[in-house]
Amino acid sequence: MIPVRESIDELEDLKRVFDKPELVTQIQELKAAHKAIILAHNYQPPEIQDLADYTGDSLGLSRKAAETDAEIIVFCGVHFMAETAYILSPTKLVLLPELRAGCPMADFATAEAVREKKEEHPDALVVSYVNTTAAVKAETDYCCTSANAVKVVSAVPSEKVIFVPDQNLAAYVAEQVDKEIIPWPGYCHVHHDIQESRVCELMEMHPEAEVIAHPECRKPVLDLADHICSTSQMLDAAITSSAEEFIVATERDMINPLKRAAPNKKFYPISDKTICPMMKTITLFKVLWALESLEPRVEVPEEIRMRALAAVERMLSVR
Ligand code: 13P
Ligand code: SF4
Repeated sequence: MIPVRESIDELEDLKRVFDKPELVTQIQELKAAHKAIILAHNYQPPEIQDLADYTGDSLGLSRKAAETDAEIIVFCGVHFMAETAYILSPTKLVLLPELRAGCPMADFATAEAVREKKEEHPDALVVSYVNTTAAVKAETDYCCTSANAVKVVSAVPSEKVIFVPDQNLAAYVAEQVDKEIIPWPGYCHVHHDIQESRVCELMEMHPEAEVIAHPECRKPVLDLADHICSTSQMLDAAITSSAEEFIVATERDMINPLKRAAPNKKFYPISDKTICPMMKTITLFKVLWALESLEPRVEVPEEIRMRALAAVERMLSVR
């Protein structure tokens, strides 16, 4: 029998009496009762990844949200990811177990600032990284993720592209395409803070290791990398490479899906402090509460959703 509680505070009070397997059982029961699907980003804590029906990068999660026939999506990630799921699947209930789980990089761009930039460059098209609000996506011609940014910018029918909001991804893309890229002064603090000196130190400690880096890292770090890719592409790189060891220049908990994908290989994170705190605000208790209360919901006003959808669909059509 699934207990019904009045508030999450009551649930938090019960922390002492619940053990983890019991929590997981209750979540599974409610998930089945509600015909829900649990989607989790690769940076989620291990116990959330263990629970998820699908774990992946932003692109994989968007595709999964678009194709699922589940009635409820419990999105274990940050706000822009849940918004993207809603943009693609507005008839579904999209739950984000912690509504305050934002992405500080997404906050670098507002819709108004993007409109102003478009006025400055009327001959440019706008490509927005998926790490943006729905309102910014609505001002956007094409959306992209770290998995397809180069492909999308290459496909955009313009020689001039305003790239929002990650300056590091913009610089990486600019090196790969023969187009003028107008960057935005935003960045992800987790990746921007990774120092090339630390990567070199790890390379000295593990001379056989290859370096895998996320393109949100700064250029001096990317220059040291053997593989530059999205979080899910990192799994393929680890599996297919002949190397046995890898230095992983991204969020610390990426080590967990990597170990699962290639259990006989070794992975070295940059440091214990290389974490995205917002990703860690999702807990088993909050997932259980989301399924009990069917809150907190993420929705996007229809007028904004329709315009944002056009940008996301243009991205998904680029193969
Ligand atoms: P991925 O799409 O590569 O998973 O990246 C999302 C993200 O927020 C990286 O910081
Ligand atoms: Fe945003 Fe950076 Fe966290 Fe990714 S790691 S969700 S870009 S703050």
